[in-house]
Amino acid sequence: MLYVHIPYCHHKCSYCGFYSVAGHRDTQDYVDALCCELKIRRTDKPLKTIYFGGGTPSLLPVRQLEQIILTIRDNYNLSQLEEVTLEANPENLTPQYLDEIARFGLFNRLSVGVQSFVDVELKMLNRVHSRQQASDAIRSAANAGFTNVSIDLIMGLPLPYRVGLQNSLTVLDELLPLGVIRHLSCYELTVEQGTILDRQLQMGRLIMPNDEIVVSDYEVLREWCKTRGFEQYEVSNYCQPGWRSRHNSRYWNRTPYIGAGAAAHSFEGLSRRWNVSDIERYIAGAKVGDIPYEEEILSAADAYNEYVMTALRTIEGIDKAMVPEEYRSVLSKSIQFALKEGLVEETHTHYRPTTEGLLKADGIAARLFV
Ligand code: SF4
Repeated sequence: MLYVHIPYCHHKCSYCGFYSVAGHRDTQDYVDALCCELKIRRTDKPLKTIYFGGGTPSLLPVRQLEQIILTIRDNYNLSQLEEVTLEANPENLTPQYLDEIARFGLFNRLSVGVQSFVDVELKMLNRVHSRQQASDAIRSAANAGFTNVSIDLIMGLPLPYRVGLQNSLTVLDELLPLGVIRHLSCYELTVEQGTILDRQLQMGRLIMPNDEIVVSDYEVLREWCKTRGFEQYEVSNYCQPGWRSRHNSRYWNRTPYIGAGAAAHSFEGLSRRWNVSDIERYIAGAKVGDIPYEEEILSAADAYNEYVMTALRTIEGIDKAMVPEEYRSVLSKSIQFALKEGLVEETHTHYRPTTEGLLKADGIAARLFV
């Protein structure tokens, strides 16, 4: 697994707490540095999935994307490659851009950051694109031959500009006949400290919705998915049968991965490392073959807690065979409350969250931590 991080954005969305640099920049030095890192960390182990995430990877000029792709092709074993995703924002997905990236013959999945199909909500979120641009982008992706498109939406948007998730789903209905929307990621809006949204809330310009409204968004979404044949396979992820995100599913299975780029995280089974969250320092480090990063060795308890937290967010739940021997009896006692309250069901092999349990997955996991 390889994750490639592009930490640039057109401008900052109001809710965004990720590390990304906004505004028009020359990204060539960064791409050169990224290619240096990809060479330094080359491996013969076959890659099954690659994910270009950000930031906004679709902001890169086509020739720079091509430079990264050529570096990956020259340094990694792609003989078992199953899925290569490009995260993209609608305003970048012009017919010409899509035709050019389709010609690389590498990307077989697009993850489009739509967030909402309602203009007033998009404006509130400080997104660049409009509803029309989002619809056009998906039509253009289908025309360019992409057959696996994932759409990102946000639920639980603030008042008074909130129109509601149903309106976005109605637009999505118009696009479904294209036959390319296979996957939906729908996250509840969270307020990160220091973001524009945080300030707007403090000034009283926006008001977060109460739990009832959020739960009703969730219900609307689940009903829409059910009637359109999308299965929920993780708290925030839905897909047509057979179209799960293979890359993200591997994160949840604790598969080791390489993360390249400024601020990118890597997981090596027993440790996690994260590159410096500073583009200038990242570029300077790459030039001398020494990219600054920090590393954390995971204790057995850390690994157990991480597994419980991610597994409970999936419909499969906790695989007992994945729980280290030393924690099995601890888990069988601590999870009793969730079994009694109908939040989790026990099978021979798994502890599986119920529908209600999925909604409360993070809270349940917190009570299982050691
Ligand atoms: S496009 Fe994504 S990464 Fe960039 S500012 Fe918006 S939410 Fe953040």
